[in-house]
Amino acid sequence: MGPPSRPRSRDSSGAGKRSVRGSSPNIDSRRSNRISASSSFAKPSSPAGGISSSTPDRRVQVKESSSSSEDIAAEIVVWTGDSMDVDGPESPTPAPPEISNPADVAVEDIKMEPILSPSSSPLSQPASSPSIQPPSPSIEPPPSLDLEGSPAIQFDPATPLPHDPPPPTPPLSPPVPATEVDISPFVENDIAPKAEDSSSSISAVSEHSDLSPALSSVSSKATTPVDNESSKEGMAPPVAQPTSQVKDKPRRRYDVRPKVSIPPDLPLYEYATQCISGAEASRLNPYALHPEEYTMLRDHISHTQVTTYLNIRNGILRLWVRNPQIAVTRDEAVGCAKDSRWFDVASLSFDWLVRRGYINFGCVEIRSSRKPAAENSPGQRKQKTIVVIGAGMSGLGCARQLEGLFKQYSRRFREMGEEPPRVVVLEGRSRVGGRVYSRAFTTRPKHVSPHFEGRRYTAEMGGMIITGFDRGNPINILLRGQLGLDYHKLNPDMTIYDSNGKAVDFERDQMVEKLYNDCLERVSEYKFQQPTSKLIEGNRDLIDEGRDSSAETHKTIRQAEEAAAAQPYAAPVSEQNMAPQVHLVPVSSDRATGKVHTEPGTPGAQKAAHRVKDIGWTLKHGVSDDADLEIDSLTQEPNATLGSVIDKIIPQYRDLVDFTAQDFRLMNWHVANLEYSNATNYNQMSLRGWDIDAGNEWEGAHTMVVGGYQSVPRGLAMLPTPLNLKQKSPVQKITYSPDSTGRATVECEDGVRVEADYVVNTIPLGVLKHGNVQFDPPLPSWKADAISRLGFGVLNKVILVYKEAFWNENRDIFGVLRMPSSRHSLEQKDYSSQRGRFFQWFNISEPSGLPVLLALMAGDAGYDTEQSCNDDLVAEATEVLRSIYGSKVPKQPVEAVVTRWASDKFARGSYSSAGPTMEADDYDTMARPIGNLYFAGEHTSGTHPATVHGAYLSGLRAASEVLDAMLGPIEIPTPLIIPKDHSSLKRKASGVNHRDSLEARLRQYEIDMWDHIVSLIDRRPAMPTKPASNAYIFFSKSNYDNARKKLEEGRRPGKGKPSANEVRVMSAKMWKETSEEEKRPFVEMVEEQKRGYTEKMEQWKKLAEEWDEKATELRLKYEKEHPAPNASEEEGNKRRRAAGVESYAEPDEDEGIVDEEAEEEEEEEDVVMEG
Ligand SMILES: Cc1cc2nc3c(=O)[nH]c(=O)nc-3n(C[C@H](O)[C@H](O)[C@H](O)COP(=O)(O)OP(=O)(O)OC[C@H]3O[C@@H](n4cnc5c(N)ncnc54)[C@H](O)[C@@H]3O)c2cc1C
Repeated sequence: MGPPSRPRSRDSSGAGKRSVRGSSPNIDSRRSNRISASSSFAKPSSPAGGISSSTPDRRVQVKESSSSSEDIAAEIVVWTGDSMDVDGPESPTPAPPEISNPADVAVEDIKMEPILSPSSSPLSQPASSPSIQPPSPSIEPPPSLDLEGSPAIQFDPATPLPHDPPPPTPPLSPPVPATEVDISPFVENDIAPKAEDSSSSISAVSEHSDLSPALSSVSSKATTPVDNESSKEGMAPPVAQPTSQVKDKPRRRYDVRPKVSIPPDLPLYEYATQCISGAEASRLNPYALHPEEYTMLRDHISHTQVTTYLNIRNGILRLWVRNPQIAVTRDEAVGCAKDSRWFDVASLSFDWLVRRGYINFGCVEIRSSRKPAAENSPGQRKQKTIVVIGAGMSGLGCARQLEGLFKQYSRRFREMGEEPPRVVVLEGRSRVGGRVYSRAFTTRPKHVSPHFEGRRYTAEMGGMIITGFDRGNPINILLRGQLGLDYHKLNPDMTIYDSNGKAVDFERDQMVEKLYNDCLERVSEYKFQQPTSKLIEGNRDLIDEGRDSSAETHKTIRQAEEAAAAQPYAAPVSEQNMAPQVHLVPVSSDRATGKVHTEPGTPGAQKAAHRVKDIGWTLKHGVSDDADLEIDSLTQEPNATLGSVIDKIIPQYRDLVDFTAQDFRLMNWHVANLEYSNATNYNQMSLRGWDIDAGNEWEGAHTMVVGGYQSVPRGLAMLPTPLNLKQKSPVQKITYSPDSTGRATVECEDGVRVEADYVVNTIPLGVLKHGNVQFDPPLPSWKADAISRLGFGVLNKVILVYKEAFWNENRDIFGVLRMPSSRHSLEQKDYSSQRGRFFQWFNISEPSGLPVLLALMAGDAGYDTEQSCNDDLVAEATEVLRSIYGSKVPKQPVEAVVTRWASDKFARGSYSSAGPTMEADDYDTMARPIGNLYFAGEHTSGTHPATVHGAYLSGLRAASEVLDAMLGPIEIPTPLIIPKDHSSLKRKASGVNHRDSLEARLRQYEIDMWDHIVSLIDRRPAMPTKPASNAYIFFSKSNYDNARKKLEEGRRPGKGKPSANEVRVMSAKMWKETSEEEKRPFVEMVEEQKRGYTEKMEQWKKLAEEWDEKATELRLKYEKEHPAPNASEEEGNKRRRAAGVESYAEPDEDEGIVDEEAEEEEEEEDVVMEG
């Protein structure tokens, strides 16, 4: 016999109580039903993970077409003859390479008909007129989104939930004393407190092609931002705070019951685990308020209420992450509240998550309201226009997000007498994607592998690697959750070959890498200190268990902070509850991306000699353990950069240890890797800001999209409906209104002018620096200065297609050490020009569908590529490959592509970096709007610059800013949470609301019954706590002191005691170095604990079962002896069911609480979300 039913199940099942329209049986299960009808997040492609068995229904990979394009970001070198045997018959003699005319190159692009012509601008036509042609037949039509039958979106097993699966038996606990009240009596007349604002591939040739508009058409008077008049202006104006207004207006009604989005059959702690991972997958701390949430809520909730807020917010994120093909509705969000008193909080959280792009973003279908506003017909209503410049990831992300937001808030616009605004994207190229460009090869394989059928044979000219899906990468949602694209996991194992082609000894490689990391750690002492923000946490234990806090203090967070500040010697409000200052120190370097991984710690804590010994080096004869490096003076030198300092540190290591020429080559390989991730020589990088995005990397394997990353921007452009996008429209002038009093005009090179209310500019930093896009008025000095301070360098690629692979096909990456310009030199300066030449190779056969190698040209080599000829580059690449693979390497590849991003007029480089004179907030300054001119693009993302996901997130941010400018901040009803006693008092006063009293009596009945059961058989036995399942935990506990002592040895003066994290890192290191024999006692401890736990669980299960049985008996007996107060209502339900009445939501006269107009609207809109 099962346990007695809990009050929660009644709430969410729809039985036994007044149910509501659209909420039966349970929202969560509705979402999951849709989910289970279909596939899961796409699996990685083989070999890493096998091919996805299900065909994703939203593929946006474009079928092969032979359309040419003027958008030539790379020069293609095509060999005919022998090489062509990949596709056709063998030809005996290899023909010389033939550089194809860029215009001949077949590029598979989305064909979108221009919506504007110079003579007539459809933008002036009524919005209802179709402004964009349907996609050309060569494109797979966007599938209509049948939400009921859409593929299931679950987490791929490759991305496990971060928490262990919970034990199977759901615990049963008596209900928490009731806090639910019906909000309906508590509306309209409550007076809100006074509102207070809480405050050529790419090529040189790129767009020089015949088809490109001539450069001469660009105004020669293009304003160079730095020269402009307003350079005397002061600092950047502060960004408007994400404050919320408190309005005295009727409360929103919700046609939903508490907990309806919480699956009744899921144990609470499992639900909690899913909520926590939902927040983590959305880049939010599950246990603490985001600074914006703090600002929004501090006047409305108390510290103890933060827990309940976070449970609701995490619950909404859980709904979204579990199936991002379906937008979360407001009702679904509100159903995450366990108590109707919290409905407004849930609704507020929903608004915040929607507006900030945490949910309902990407290629998700959102239904708009069908109900026209009463007054004006659509033709008469005004409609605002937003022009987004650029169809890269940021521009498309922004435009798609704006479309979604305008649908979700359509009612708000209609209330203002406007049609929801329209969005127009102007793109200079003849394709979408910008720096995400999957260029198609002309070569075809002899045999098409079945898993590649229907895909494009491409290589990534630009953005290529998705740097981990876990814990918040929005590309995860787009790629796996919405578009269902296949991806290939990169095998991180790599071999580094020396310049003579011999593999470098692994141990030596490791030792040099550690030294390099030590070097980075020491310079990280001079980094900008990141400001900390408020850390308002909920109760972690309760959140882990999925329980709300039952204690409710009435002091708001602000009142509590102000009261604390009023105490003698207390910290002011601005300093209370601050997150601790964390120093992030580099611990390792990512070989595939060049990114530095960091951990909290104390930079340069140990003296250098001590450290190098720890790493495994032997000190030179006569060098003492106390020997150290001199770094301070280097950092004080005028114009010191990261490179200038490290170049002088490396030789100092030579004074401590024996450093060979190969060690120098290895060290410089790592420097080249760093230069790759920054697209510039490290002598052009800020000593203080080079690692400004530290700590924000995603977790999980690096991946590449099979068939081309460009499928993602294409998806954004096309799904669920095509964006209003005009290609081949290079913008030459933007006239904007710095004080937002006027409109903006965007002028294209072909003379077309588009009027706009708001402009979002995603033009790359390189193009802004170049200065050929004119701003009227010129950009203020605070913006122009940031443009000039930030760096924008170049990374290039040489891509070689072969008939067959001659390399190790099980490896995805290999490295090559390069000789300095002067052979065997131990001078850093001799390495810089060579170290980045063909230093890193990717075997991209799996995502490309052909045997292809892709080499990186980083640092100085990136720039040199722009000037080098194709033949020389291919010859050098062949030489490098032959040094490793010998004569197996053909004299020439069958096809080759060389990128030249700096010569591309729509990019002028590859990505942004921390320029030498950069200031700490330059990225934020780049993001800051000026009047009605907004900015997005990778160069506006301080947390994820130079990346595809950073660009996408910046688009979401800009969309959010534009919406806020149109609608104002999110409105907060006051009081936000209805006081516990309020409605009961009100009910007592009116003495009318039958349903409320029934509900209260029901709740009291449950409590009395549980009290009765507990008084007889005590509480249900508690489940035994799970013991540590990892031997390391026992080891680290017993070796804590040893680890600390080790850290104290050789510690530099002034570095303080080792932090807990340093100790943790040290014990992890010690564990790694401990032999299996020494580990055995700890392993045995784990086994012993496990045995004990299994026994305890067996006993517990038995006791729990017995208790459940007794409780059920007692419950039945109690119910018999004391009939439940809802008996008569249940009778009514039965009668209604018998009469075939599906819904319980029809206006109920005797309740007198149903707003007919709201009912009518909800009937029509059902799942529509509106502001
Ligand atoms: C070689 C290379 C390798 C990279 N590797 C990676 C990687 O592995 N992983 C990763 O995450 N990121 C990588 N990146 C970075 C990533 O590609 C970019 O950060 C991201 O794509 C930038 O997106 P965006 O929208 O900011 O800019 P863009 O993609 O450049 O979009 C801007 C758009 O504006 C258009 N435009 C420019 N001027 C005008 C004008 N005057 N009028 C109209 N339109 C205009 C452009 O044509 C373009 O479409 C790489 C980039 C390069 C170049």
